[in-house]
Amino acid sequence: MKPYSQLSKDELLSMRSELEVKFNEVKAKGLSLDMSRGKPAAAQLNLSNGMMDVLNSQCDLKSEEGVDCRNYGSLDGIKDAKRLLADMSEVSMDKVIIYGNSSLNVMFDTVSRCMTHGVLGHTPWCRLDKVKFLCPVPGYDRHFGITEYFGIEMVNVPMLPTGPDMDIVEKLVSEDDSIKGIWCVPKYSNPQGISYSDETVRRFAHLKPAAPDFRIFWDNAYSIHHLYDDDPDVILELLEECEKAGNPDLVYKFISTSKVSFPGSGVAAVAASSANLADFKKHMKYQTIGHDKLNQLRHVRFFKDMDGMREHMRKHAAILRPKFEAVLQVLDSELTGLEIGNWIAPKGGYFISFDALDGCAKAIVAKAKEAGLVMTGAGATFPYGKDPADSNIRIAPSFPTPEELAIAADIFVTSVKLVSIDKLLE
Ligand code: PLP
Repeated sequence: MKPYSQLSKDELLSMRSELEVKFNEVKAKGLSLDMSRGKPAAAQLNLSNGMMDVLNSQCDLKSEEGVDCRNYGSLDGIKDAKRLLADMSEVSMDKVIIYGNSSLNVMFDTVSRCMTHGVLGHTPWCRLDKVKFLCPVPGYDRHFGITEYFGIEMVNVPMLPTGPDMDIVEKLVSEDDSIKGIWCVPKYSNPQGISYSDETVRRFAHLKPAAPDFRIFWDNAYSIHHLYDDDPDVILELLEECEKAGNPDLVYKFISTSKVSFPGSGVAAVAASSANLADFKKHMKYQTIGHDKLNQLRHVRFFKDMDGMREHMRKHAAILRPKFEAVLQVLDSELTGLEIGNWIAPKGGYFISFDALDGCAKAIVAKAKEAGLVMTGAGATFPYGKDPADSNIRIAPSFPTPEELAIAADIFVTSVKLVSIDKLLE
């Protein structure tokens, strides 16, 4: 198909009339569709229902080291859970602390601790005139929400197909000691589905930050969330790379079983060097006497081990794959060659990221809404909700059915075409 930019004004006008007829027909149906929520569908949650049966009044409710999971104790988690979450994080058990039900909560808490108490004896960030975080964009809105909440200035760093632009990261981090952290989703990133290359991970491990209390916030939320089990993305394990580079304390790794078992009722963990873990625990012991060990036990009894978890993720993939493919098929067949948008077909994770012509994202999201399709708000993938190019739109295909998705994707591409034509006619 010919790029829209090569069409004459008359051709664009006649195409717009045809698209408007189609759009108004769909609009008249009064549909209510939602591609905004990155949450698992009920069919995926059903996969973990067996977890409700593995603990009952007849069960032995002790962990493998004999801890009674009904009672207080085990501040940093039971051994069984540490093994499972350590395997998931690709580190040894002594490098892991088990937390509560949400990794985002741990990230918030970590930034909060750095603000009030500092990192390993350094000045608390709240006492500094300026604290900045690097934010690879597009990225996860809730990361940006945390740093915004604490008044931390966010600096955009462009994402490349290999991960964040490391030339920029290295330069900024080495020159500016007010830069204290960077948000990273290294595997099947939210929203682009990009997995960091080996070179990117190594460059992270070798960073020479001006600030001794700079930390990489490595949110491995989609570590085992492959769509294609026969062709998974594999990334280097950063903690080990940091150790090899002589930078063992540079990274905090976050993980959870949210989109493995039940979002909001999973188990979260941090992996880090022993010095960093001691810092975490110093704070944690005032916070709680221990997290929910029955939930930890339930997860271990249900999944048993990493093989069990991988097998479980294959069932998730079988549900998610047709949904991603339904959307990608419509994008491919309707938009290829028109040069009015770019997207990446992800191999895992929860999102497809779409880049429209500059200045069109907000208008596309609004147009789709007119026809009953809710998308993630344009700009949400950038710090402060401000996409400087007004171009990025996050598509979340997990929640609707494949049938709903085919209709939703059709509304989306029609909206993209209409708004792009208007832009070209300006
Ligand atoms: N990190 C990323 C990158 C996410 O996309 C999400 C959820 O969408 C989370 C963290 C939330 O994780 P949790 O449920 O463990 O708080």
